[in-house]
Amino acid sequence: MQPARVTVRAPAKINLFLRITGRRPDGYHLLSTWMQKVDLCDTIELAVCGEGIRFSCTGDGVPGDRDNLVYRAADLYLQAVRGRDGLPALGAAIELRKRIPVAAGLGGGSSDAAATLRAMNGLFGSALAPDELVGLGLRLGADVPFFLADSPAALATGIGEILRPVPSLQGYSVVLVNPGFPVSTRWAYQTFALTKKEDASNLANLQECVVEDVCWGDSGAMIQPDAPLVNDLETVTVARYPLLERLKGELLRHGAVQALMSGSGPTVFGLFADHHKAEACCAACKSRFAASYLVAPVGEK
Ligand code: ATP
Repeated sequence: MQPARVTVRAPAKINLFLRITGRRPDGYHLLSTWMQKVDLCDTIELAVCGEGIRFSCTGDGVPGDRDNLVYRAADLYLQAVRGRDGLPALGAAIELRKRIPVAAGLGGGSSDAAATLRAMNGLFGSALAPDELVGLGLRLGADVPFFLADSPAALATGIGEILRPVPSLQGYSVVLVNPGFPVSTRWAYQTFALTKKEDASNLANLQECVVEDVCWGDSGAMIQPDAPLVNDLETVTVARYPLLERLKGELLRHGAVQALMSGSGPTVFGLFADHHKAEACCAACKSRFAASYLVAPVGEK
């Protein structure tokens, strides 16, 4: 018998590397990025109930209605399975508890959408195959397939949907510092397109360059301190908010091996080989920025 109720966690991600390699005719940007899930999580409770969707949500800056990606994911799912034999009444009561900062470059909305699709499929007897879930996920956001995948880390190309699983980061503590204001992903990409044009030939084999600078051990990935971790969107978001450059400098002064902005920002992160230094750094950052977190990379299952 299928469970009638389930509670799932939706992890955030960081981008250890993000380059924009082009633009599709439909306006979507082509990327080369390395994504890693980290254990800062939202929580979603779902229960099968009558018809339709009952949704509630706690957390600042996030829509509490049909615009929420959790609601949209559940709605798409129910539309896709409606009419299939043997399913219980097609409805769900869903409660979202946000912890991941919103519009932060941490992929919280996409992760919530993916967790909802997976959980709904569990509640409704795995009515959809994994590739059908990916198809629905792509309609909600380019990062959703990454969060649907079991792998905690992946190199992604295309618009972010072509995934090559890689070992998870190993041996690092991660400090996330969110300065407390949102950045629109759409704004960052649009501004990048307006201000930067690069010769496509310079952008070939980008992932290979980074991949060579990473030690891909059997039990996880270790990054060399001089590995060229870059995020093209820093040229947009950090240029607009110079505070972010200072925050990266602070992470490095506290002993981070590397510091970078995640996604379209404004969250910056530091990778620490020394957990005690990471703890001290997080405590110092938290006194000024409440949304500072000491987290760990999500490991292999
Ligand atoms: P990415 O790193 O994938 O670009 P992000 O972390 O910068 O995403 P999100 O937190 O996913 O951004 O939010 C993007 C937008 O989506 C916000 O404007 C927010 O209002 C909307 N949104 C809808 N549902 C959610 C949700 N469940 N969690 C967060 N944001 C949501």
